[in-house]
Amino acid sequence: MNKNLLYRNIPKVDILLENIKIQELIETYGRETVVETIREALESLRAYIKECDAEENALERINSLVSDIEKKVISINTPDIRSVINGTGTILHTNLGRAPISPKHMQYVAEIATGYSNLEYNLEEGKRGERYSHFEKLLCKITGAEAAMAVNNNAAAVMLILNTLGKGKEIIVSRGELVEIGGKFRVPDVMEQSGASLVEVGTTNKTHFADYEQAITEETGALLKVHTSNYRIVGFTDKVSIEELVPLGEKYHLPVIEDLGSGVLIDLSKYGLTYEPTVQDSIRHGADIVCFSGDKLLGGAQAGIIVGKKAYIDKMKKNQMTRALRIDKFTAATLDVILHEYLSEERAIQNIPALHMITESLEDVTKRAKSLQRMLRQMKPKAEIVLEKCESQIGGGSLPLERIESMAVTIKPNCITTAELEERMRHLPIPIIPRTMNDKIILDVRTIEQRFFKTIVQELKESHIFEEKA
Ligand SMILES: *Cc1c(COP(=O)(O)O)cnc(C)c1O
Repeated sequence: MNKNLLYRNIPKVDILLENIKIQELIETYGRETVVETIREALESLRAYIKECDAEENALERINSLVSDIEKKVISINTPDIRSVINGTGTILHTNLGRAPISPKHMQYVAEIATGYSNLEYNLEEGKRGERYSHFEKLLCKITGAEAAMAVNNNAAAVMLILNTLGKGKEIIVSRGELVEIGGKFRVPDVMEQSGASLVEVGTTNKTHFADYEQAITEETGALLKVHTSNYRIVGFTDKVSIEELVPLGEKYHLPVIEDLGSGVLIDLSKYGLTYEPTVQDSIRHGADIVCFSGDKLLGGAQAGIIVGKKAYIDKMKKNQMTRALRIDKFTAATLDVILHEYLSEERAIQNIPALHMITESLEDVTKRAKSLQRMLRQMKPKAEIVLEKCESQIGGGSLPLERIESMAVTIKPNCITTAELEERMRHLPIPIIPRTMNDKIILDVRTIEQRFFKTIVQELKESHIFEEKA
């Protein structure tokens, strides 16, 4: 093999720049990126030839140079965060962005965000307004609280609450409620960052009323309950409910705080799920401050929502820390539009994707699964496409033991391995993230909205995904 001849076959930069395809790329993406990409492509091509021992492979690489450059330039210019199709059946999948927002709600948010808005402008009075005002009344109406606000996420809400009510003081919390929320974040550590010191009472499995009372001293700033979102302590257990804790707080003039984690606003037991204490329950039982996530069971944007007694919320709004934790206009607009859906429970269930997925009947999921199966079979794939019962999970650290009966489209490829298929699905333009079980691809249809069915079929077809060589 004459390597010198191969090197001479590599086009020079000047020649490449005259290529019509390359000129189009420059037109669209700018000269700088294209020239840089050309230089890198040439360098890697030379390195390849140096190592290469089959001439036809080297020639193939030289021939595909322009299209390789094109692919690279397009890839550099494509934003990295993109849509994926969630076939895992985990509804609030934290790695996949938790609660999806409906296109209709997002269209509203897009209108707000693409122009100016009254985010902090009071249109009645023609002067400065408050960014929480837009949904504060609504949150109060829905939850029964006196006042409300929102910050960046629930971890921030916990930190702000404790910093405002417990800085330099002691906060009493049960040992059974010291939660790690994923990504190695521990609620107790977040709490320590607030400047409050935690006083842990009880044991992992049992905490009694007297444990709280005995721990109260001059230094106590508040009593705290944390929802054990992502785990359950079962067996020989005891805990003090919010109803029991509230009178204790009153007796010693201490605020009672509840971190509900998921913060569901609808009693999901009506839809066959395990009863989860709602935010309304907590307020009704007299909690002074309740906080919860905006993108867990609420089904909205990432946020930490704080509701409760006005005197405490006012203090938090004035805390300097609030400025560092504040929500932006995207979040404010998203919360505003989503919370409006909660004015009617039926509307919320219908229009908020996460709630719709959680409550969709097995019958309806099965109907949709059949339709996806039919569409997939029509493309005559080299694979077996079979319906199979499966179980969805809520995810996001909510209702950890809950399993919802669901229907999956399973795929068993004939010419490639299941692992290969899974990898290929992950590399599609709109990646499909399935589960694999018993050497089959499982697509739980509960978390796949109808509008993605066509995309799935088209992608699988165009990528020749079931062929030995894709
Ligand atoms: C999820 C969770 C948090 C953190 O909420 P983010 O919105 O993810 O910051 C805090 N406390 C509890 C109990 C939780 O379940």
